[in-house]
Amino acid sequence: MTIQNDTERANLIEAGRRLAAVLEALRMKVAPGVTSEELDDLAEQLIRGGGDEPSFLGYTPEGAHRAYPAALCVSINDEVVHGIPNESVKTLKEGDIVGLDLGLTHKGIVVDAAITVPVGQVDEESKRLLAATEQSLMAGVRAAVPGKHIGDISHAIQEEIEHAGFKVVKELGGHGVGDVVHEEPFIPNYGRVGEGAILSEGMVLALEPISSAGKAAVTLAPDGYTYRTKDGSRSAHFEHTILIEKDGARIITG
Ligand code: MG
Repeated sequence: MTIQNDTERANLIEAGRRLAAVLEALRMKVAPGVTSEELDDLAEQLIRGGGDEPSFLGYTPEGAHRAYPAALCVSINDEVVHGIPNESVKTLKEGDIVGLDLGLTHKGIVVDAAITVPVGQVDEESKRLLAATEQSLMAGVRAAVPGKHIGDISHAIQEEIEHAGFKVVKELGGHGVGDVVHEEPFIPNYGRVGEGAILSEGMVLALEPISSAGKAAVTLAPDGYTYRTKDGSRSAHFEHTILIEKDGARIITG
């Protein structure tokens, strides 16, 4: 989506504010003993309570064989992204890390954001993985300036994750958003400065670094959605929807 006027811009900002509030409520709910289905139920209830729609529920991404069956993606430890919370229901345990990825549609505008949250006390490596991945998202946001390229964002994210000693998952990445959940351009989390499409004012993008504490290779589960690291190592995921403005990116879902 490219923002064309003040009304669209105001609706986008309000959509982002609402999604950020729901994600914050989910973050507060995370604790040992809470199930993935409880988190999904809460997400759907809060979104609908505000008069909005859960964007992921019923959405069929390109290449998928069926519609996504939940409002929220819940991806625990070695689950990378797109864990289905309400089919094989999982219970959070002390020491887990849990990725929560959520889309919200407000007045026809789709916003998308994700956080990875520690469950109780987690080990040092997991803390570093979460910090590096969140920092890489902020590095990507800072690189999202009109006149720069998609590759500048990709490169900034990759540098931050690899500098911390972790790997970038290459199969998945950011995307345009706003009119629908996934739009052009694809935004890899690795790349070179100056490569790819040029960024321009008004563009709405979802940046989403996805990292691995071990090897970068992932596999797709038979459910058609859940990605896991091949070697069983932990993975983290942070995402913001951003709007490219004259002087740089504004975080919409922060
Ligand atoms: Mg996304």
